[in-house]
Amino acid sequence: MSETAAGPVDTEPTTPIDASIDPAGRVDELRSAIEHHDHRYYVLAEPEIPDADYDDMLRELRSLEEQHPDLIVPDSPTRRVAGRPATTFAEVRHAEPMMSLDNAADADELRAWGERTRRRLAQHDLHETDVGYVCELKIDGLAVSLRYERGQFTQGATRGDGRVGEDVTENLRTVADIPERLAVDAPPEVLEVRGEVYLSLAEFAAINREAEAAGTHMYVNPRNTAAGSLRQKDPRVTASRRLSFWSYQLGIRQGGPELSSHHETLAWLAELGFPVNPEHRVLATLDEVEDYCRHWQEHRHDLAYEIDGVVVKLDDLARRAVLGATSRAPRWAIAYKFPPEERTTILRDIQVSIGRTGRATPFAVLEPVFVGGSTVSMATLHNQDQVALKDVRVGDTVIVRKAGDVIPEVVGPVLAERAPDAEPWVFPTACPRCGEPLVRPEDGADHRCLNLACPARVAGTIEHFASRGAMDIEGLGERTTELFTSLGWVSDVGDLYSIDEALLGELEGFGDVSVRNLLSAIEASKDRPLANVLVGLNIRHVGGTVAELLAGHFGHLDRLAAADEEALAAVDGIGPTIAESVHRWFRDPANLAVLDKLRAAGVNLEGPEQTADVARTLEGRSVVVTGTLEGYSRDEAEAAIKARGGKSPGSVSKRTFAVVVGDGAGASKLTKAEDLAIPVLDEAGFEALLETGELPVSVAPDASGEEAS
Ligand code: NAD
Repeated sequence: MSETAAGPVDTEPTTPIDASIDPAGRVDELRSAIEHHDHRYYVLAEPEIPDADYDDMLRELRSLEEQHPDLIVPDSPTRRVAGRPATTFAEVRHAEPMMSLDNAADADELRAWGERTRRRLAQHDLHETDVGYVCELKIDGLAVSLRYERGQFTQGATRGDGRVGEDVTENLRTVADIPERLAVDAPPEVLEVRGEVYLSLAEFAAINREAEAAGTHMYVNPRNTAAGSLRQKDPRVTASRRLSFWSYQLGIRQGGPELSSHHETLAWLAELGFPVNPEHRVLATLDEVEDYCRHWQEHRHDLAYEIDGVVVKLDDLARRAVLGATSRAPRWAIAYKFPPEERTTILRDIQVSIGRTGRATPFAVLEPVFVGGSTVSMATLHNQDQVALKDVRVGDTVIVRKAGDVIPEVVGPVLAERAPDAEPWVFPTACPRCGEPLVRPEDGADHRCLNLACPARVAGTIEHFASRGAMDIEGLGERTTELFTSLGWVSDVGDLYSIDEALLGELEGFGDVSVRNLLSAIEASKDRPLANVLVGLNIRHVGGTVAELLAGHFGHLDRLAAADEEALAAVDGIGPTIAESVHRWFRDPANLAVLDKLRAAGVNLEGPEQTADVARTLEGRSVVVTGTLEGYSRDEAEAAIKARGGKSPGSVSKRTFAVVVGDGAGASKLTKAEDLAIPVLDEAGFEALLETGELPVSVAPDASGEEAS
């Protein structure tokens, strides 16, 4: 792949080639490193490094070979299908080779492949501008070939080196998705079906839960676990792993219908009883192909299994035959690879952070690395047991994973690169902020700092009070709360309301505008609903839902504070643990002193109007509100829906009953509502809905196809 194509916004540039390095030496070095990693990956199913690091080496090698054609050898890893059959299994010679795929790392490389394909077809007088494609998900598993004779499954093999694979027939018989007999009355004499064996995320998680319970080693990812599971000597072990299968291609065959396109092949595979992935699409143009790739890059984590890209294939089988293949991959297909979610980097340090409950969480300080679409320099390590289980040590080269919206994690060390003197990490005995002991209860996994006055705990409590789901004080984030705490200005949340404006103005970085904004945000927080105040108070077990129940039931903080445990537990939805925790909180003089400060500052401590006599017109229904309404703030609109038994989530889904749209509403919510044919209401429609629970006639789903207003 060419150097110029590297460097899109969301992928790492190709490793630059240092001109001072002797190319022949570097080529040798890369080839032997690649061979080593091929063995770990294909034979042992235990790779040492992330795929992206391996792909970088292959790219560098390809680039060197392009610049120095004299260094090309026929069996270079750039020219052959990687992998070698293990000697544990009998060999199976593939009647038709099982190939790899060429890759595109971004839209430009995809277009370049489209261009090359069109040029080649034009040389054979095939001149259409758009040739028709089938897009499929690139399943992160391992390829197998299944042979059927007169409809009966007779042999199954791995890809191996593409020409010779491993006989894993008995193991494949344990995969429930793979039919023992073809589901047609007149099966072809011989048929080879190819596809991907994979492990669903749910099964992978279940296997790891079992491994954790048994104290055996945890599996790193579904792909390698699937490969390891299929290549077991004992088929009973394979059976216990509950592997799955998607079919996507034919090998040799004798008999069966005339097929002229890939989509017909897929339809026939389904008829024969093979699972065919339902997300495949027949698309006419490369623009549509690009949209498909983009869509799945964004939604890859919505699936129940892992994918690492999209495979784009020419649909027309005659054109495929014209294009043929190189020594390692067909020319009629390309794998559009998603940006990597795993990378290696250096673990510089392991530190411990103290949260608002005193929990001490170890975290990795990393040499910054670009992965999963952003630069990562820190990752949680959860607790002492996780650090021990992963055995990560300061100075290690570690694999960092950042998948979608999930916070980055350290997968584990690259043991081959560990320094001989690297020491196991020891959990600190003292809190890094206040110096008090860190204590781990016998029955718990977490260490805690028990000092209520620990500045880290205080700052965490205040940050939580100011957060979105609580008092929503803009401008009061982690840094500012840390600053105020360390200056001694606030030792509890009540102190926020007496911050001195003049002193604030003297702080570095606080100009007139930011002082004014912060103070007015603090002022505005005084009017938040009681439930938000309760969330902000950091009472154990009291999150948004519990706070709503308590605020709705007691109607005033003083009544809640006075309630005994029995009265608390009598509230619908409140169990004895929560009742005990809330009761205890209101008996602590330090907490009561905080409440006095809030009361003195004029913070709203009253609940919503008692809702007992509001009709529950929206029982169990979801109503999404977007944009600004005239008669209701966002909180009021949500409270009105909840008071009537409904829910008001932040996003539109199939289960949404109606979407209420005010000024400046988000286009995406509207489009989604239209796509899903969900009724859209204006403010008047909303009021009618609250009152009656009925949709206005003009937007009701059975109203003769009329547009929603
Ligand atoms: P590939 O995975 O890039 O593409 C070919 C494979 O895609 C096929 O063999 C098939 O198994 C699979 N596939 C999934 N869905 C498919 C579909 N719908 N249609 C067709 N094929 C589909 O190529 P490769 O040569 O198998 O392997 C290279 C991959 O293995 C790279 O991702 C590389 O990073 C990784 N690898 C990693 C290491 C390591 O040490 N981490 C070592 C070797 C290889």
